[in-house]
Amino acid sequence: MTPNAKRRKAPFFAVLMAAASLLAGCGPSPEVDTEFTPYVRKFEDEAGFPVTSDVVFRELDGFRGYCYPKGEDGRKQIWIDPESWREMASDEAAKELLMFHELGHCELSRPHDNTRGDDGDYVSIMNGAGVTSFVDEYVQNRAKYLNELFNR
Ligand SMILES: [Zn+2]
Repeated sequence: MTPNAKRRKAPFFAVLMAAASLLAGCGPSPEVDTEFTPYVRKFEDEAGFPVTSDVVFRELDGFRGYCYPKGEDGRKQIWIDPESWREMASDEAAKELLMFHELGHCELSRPHDNTRGDDGDYVSIMNGAGVTSFVDEYVQNRAKYLNELFNR
């Protein structure tokens, strides 16, 4: 082996190790029901980091979704009520809003914020009023709400 080749090998190995530790550093990948995958990916695109919470169906009494801070495996879990999800059917905006709200709790550690702006609308999708009453405002001002959510 020439010295030249040896020098080139070390950085390559370092890159490999960095990639491996990046993958390993996240622990086991979270359990995400395939129903929720598109919304989780969209959230990751906006957030710029991978979601680490499980996102699964669970029957909830009186809630559409819930961020459970510590699941059995130590990961946060987002529970989505299956009946509520069915009711939203093809309302993609409502589904995205519900998912982003719960991901806001679990992934961004955002509590509820019921502040209203001068226009009377909630300033954040982290309002605790329930997503279905808020879908129109969200659709009309999606960019504004995402900027607020991700604090950019
Ligand atoms: Zn909430």
